[in-house]
Amino acid sequence: MAEIPRKSLPNIIASQIVAQILDGVYKSGYQLPAERDLIKQFGVSRSTLREALKSLEDINLIESRHGVGRFIAELNEKNLAQANKMASDAESQFDTPRVRLTSEDSPEGPRRLPVTPEKPLIIPNLKKDRLGTFSLISWWERDKVANAKVMVVGAGALGNEVVKNLALMGVGHIFIVDFDTIELANLSRSILFRESDSGRKKAEVAAARAKEINPNVHVQYFHGDITTALGLGVFRRMDVIIGCLDNREARLAVNRFSYWINKPWVDGAIQEFFGLARVFIPGEGACFECTLTEQARRDLSIRYSCPLLARENILLGKVPTTPTIASIIAGIQSQEALKLIHNKPVEPGKVLHFNGMTNEVHTTAYTPVEDCESHWTYGDITELPLRVDTTTLDDMLQIAHRDLGPDAVIELNQELVLALNCPQCGTHEDILRPISEVGFNRAHCSVCGLLREVEMTHAIHGDENFLSRTLASIGVPPLHILRAYNTEEYRFYELNGDLQDTLHFNHFDRPLSEAPIKLTGHIKLKDRVVMKKHAKITIHEPGIKIAGSIEDDKHQGQSIKIIDDSSKDDEQQEQTIKIMTDSSKKDTELS
Ligand SMILES: [Zn+2]
Ligand SMILES: [Zn+2]
Repeated sequence: MAEIPRKSLPNIIASQIVAQILDGVYKSGYQLPAERDLIKQFGVSRSTLREALKSLEDINLIESRHGVGRFIAELNEKNLAQANKMASDAESQFDTPRVRLTSEDSPEGPRRLPVTPEKPLIIPNLKKDRLGTFSLISWWERDKVANAKVMVVGAGALGNEVVKNLALMGVGHIFIVDFDTIELANLSRSILFRESDSGRKKAEVAAARAKEINPNVHVQYFHGDITTALGLGVFRRMDVIIGCLDNREARLAVNRFSYWINKPWVDGAIQEFFGLARVFIPGEGACFECTLTEQARRDLSIRYSCPLLARENILLGKVPTTPTIASIIAGIQSQEALKLIHNKPVEPGKVLHFNGMTNEVHTTAYTPVEDCESHWTYGDITELPLRVDTTTLDDMLQIAHRDLGPDAVIELNQELVLALNCPQCGTHEDILRPISEVGFNRAHCSVCGLLREVEMTHAIHGDENFLSRTLASIGVPPLHILRAYNTEEYRFYELNGDLQDTLHFNHFDRPLSEAPIKLTGHIKLKDRVVMKKHAKITIHEPGIKIAGSIEDDKHQGQSIKIIDDSSKDDEQQEQTIKIMTDSSKKDTELS
């Protein structure tokens, strides 16, 4: 039996560099990193490295230019053949199969994602840079990941894992939605929750822990029901939505919202040792609603036909799962989101099934349904500088009339319960609340106990007697996008005045300075501070200094407390100022 040749360390290093050349990490004409960086990268001595580089010079794969450095040579038939041999020797040595871009003839096995040709080679400082190793991934684009806005809907078993992954990968803006609170049974599959969190809001705790995992990411949580309480304008500002849900109704809502404002969403589902993950992109293959069976559709319509009961049933879904299957499926979901962030190819409308009992994985493409009710994307959206809590139905109707004529109708996402009527004793109770806020316990007549009829609407025509009510009071969420139509067309209006309060990604940001700011003398403060990015607070008052500085404008709208500890007067000891950023002003003023 032939002995497997053992290779020397310089040979191994040389073949690793060759593999990187063949993979396109180092291209012809590029300069190799400096010796000290290569020594650090491979963890070898200078003499070993030099021996490795020498062997590459010998086969004309790199060339040394005196006083400048080493460069990758032009690849030709001869040195390419030698390079391939060197790399394949290395493979048998490490026994790890590689797929090279140059080998057209390899039919099986994983394919590397194409290398981004423009990506410069960066040697990260792994001591100081927590995301440094990601820079070594050929296609990783740090800015795209840092700028990404991702919504995670559901902070249960899947949501915990997804949020953890996003924070670890440095996904810059994470918006977490859940309406539930933490109970002890959640702890067995929720890496972000602790025993002391019992009773706290899941979304809030998940956001706080994401910030702990990686203080560089910006987080925001929303404690509420995704099907009714979150404005569409929030969806509109996301790059990807990740569904970590356990019920069909919530999935259907996320599916429709995503379709309406044309955003990709990544669904995941788990039960015992089984799981699935799938990407849906509007207009590309099937959507979630397309995947529903006839029976599922019937179930949904039965629930909707008894409106008050339907909502209560949604909350019952408790599915037995394990943290292991949650991390597997959430891992796939997070990776799909990462690919979407990078505009890498994904397979929308296909499902990946994982059977953890047999470890079988298979993918299936769903058939899009021609007349699927989810398939509708909003046209141009008009941004109005209005807020839901101050804008009345009448205000909105006037805008709709201006654009669409006197027949314009405003259409609500959610049914508005106008009244409950008892068919037996004829009593009538005005309600005027969104259906999400009218519980099933209200359904029975307080006089005779009979189930009352629910009088409701989802359209405002202009002849209603409650047009002076605000949008908020009838259940329109902040930053929502309202629809209005006439017989010919739809128009879409976003309540943009809510933007600052509704979407900020600044929950759990660090305080402006660790210690309270101390003054050494009396000072009168205006209720407004104007500052530039990276500005220091300076006060136009002789002999007074503030210890602390403002790093950036993320504290916009927050208050800081100024403490004057030299004052004897208790009432004047503390003052709170509101921070406003105005980049046109050069100096920070506080006087
Ligand atoms: Zn569909
Ligand atoms: Zn009655």
